[in-house]
Amino acid sequence: MGATVAIIGRPNVGKSTLFNRLVGKRLALVDDTPGVTRDRRPGEARLGDLKFTIIDTAGLEEAEAGTLEGRMRRQTEEAIREADAILFLIDARAGVTPLDAHFADVARRTTTPVILIANKAEGRAGSDGLYEAYSLGLGEPIAVSAEHGEGLADLYDALKPYV
Ligand code: GDP
Ligand code: MG
Repeated sequence: MGATVAIIGRPNVGKSTLFNRLVGKRLALVDDTPGVTRDRRPGEARLGDLKFTIIDTAGLEEAEAGTLEGRMRRQTEEAIREADAILFLIDARAGVTPLDAHFADVARRTTTPVILIANKAEGRAGSDGLYEAYSLGLGEPIAVSAEHGEGLADLYDALKPYV
């Protein structure tokens, strides 16, 4: 059995874009509207010579009851349980938001390894957000652009020990 990697984070940080980038197909729905991902269908990801199962998570699941925060938290906790490693995404352009901090609280409590990713960092964009990301207490952030395919070598190095 190969490793499973879950992508978590608040809506609109680029989780589905990264999922699609790693799977190489447009399986996950990407949209500017937060919460458009409605399933947690796994994909077969490739990154260099690494092969693993990747799980995209939605920011919101309509079928579940409760508050938005509660739904996102439950989904995140499920993904964390299933995974051998977690990719925790923030939007480097937006910086660290209260909702990012909320997700980070959940992520810090797990024994599953968490890799912190500052997405949307193409070119020089998001350098402030990259520094802010240290405040989440999840170690050194990796600057990535899921949309432009940047930072994937650093992502490879970070994932290699776990997959
Ligand atoms: P999710 O809600 O976390 O799954 O986020 P999505 O993957 O649906 O992306 C939300 C928005 O961010 C979309 O408009 C994407 O095109 C955009 N986006 C995703 N990755 C990047 C990136 O690396 N750079 C930039 N500039 N935009 C991105
Ligand atoms: Mg999505």
